[in-house]
Amino acid sequence: MKLKMIKKIVSHNKKLSPNFSVRIKKIKYIIIHYTGTSSVSEALNIFKDKKSQVSCHWLITNKGILYKIVDEKYTAWHAGVSFWKKEKMLNDSSIGIELDNIGHGVGYRLFPDKQIKVLELLLEKIIQKYKIKKQNVLAHSDIAPNRKLDPGELFNWDRLAKKNLAYYPEIKNYSRKNIFFKLGDYDSKIGLIKIKLTDIGYKCSKNNNFDIYLKLVIEAFQRRFLPEKINGIIDGKVYSRILQVSKNA
Ligand SMILES: [Zn+2]
Repeated sequence: MKLKMIKKIVSHNKKLSPNFSVRIKKIKYIIIHYTGTSSVSEALNIFKDKKSQVSCHWLITNKGILYKIVDEKYTAWHAGVSFWKKEKMLNDSSIGIELDNIGHGVGYRLFPDKQIKVLELLLEKIIQKYKIKKQNVLAHSDIAPNRKLDPGELFNWDRLAKKNLAYYPEIKNYSRKNIFFKLGDYDSKIGLIKIKLTDIGYKCSKNNNFDIYLKLVIEAFQRRFLPEKINGIIDGKVYSRILQVSKNA
């Protein structure tokens, strides 16, 4: 019933993107993006343009129409330079889903229920088909924190997790008050926090420096797991959340 519904939506589609290559790895991840374009047709034009060198497997409009852009058996070009859990360049091991949304800056908006409902059906199908771990359903910002913000803090990971389609432990009341680290700080505890972030999957250098890359990783972590405030600072709440998320990562 559910699969049929997706197929029906796909039939809207005509031409697929030319931007793909032969897949050389097993599908292990799902990467969620926003298009960052002001319209669906703008996004479709980019994906259909050979010169753009970008694509994805699926695009979901804000009205909940699903477009097939590249067949899942091929590698689509959506992740770019990326890293997760010691794996580099995730295009070959992932499926890329683009959500129609103008993105950060003027007009960044909530993802409508219609769009997310279709995403949920699609995720269910892909997760089942390729036996993907829910910890491997990721944001583009997770795997490229120095370049990407998408899908961003307005994307509701909690909703997906409640349907067992993503990893998002329920936020607890945190009490640690003595932790505060920011860009430029140096402390052995920062080194330990980096190890926990590495356990989750993020790329971190192995030292005790709070460098610019760590700030971007913390921002990506906040966008993903603690979206109430994005400031790239490790306070007691962020620290506790990192420990909590790393437990079952
Ligand atoms: Zn993206």
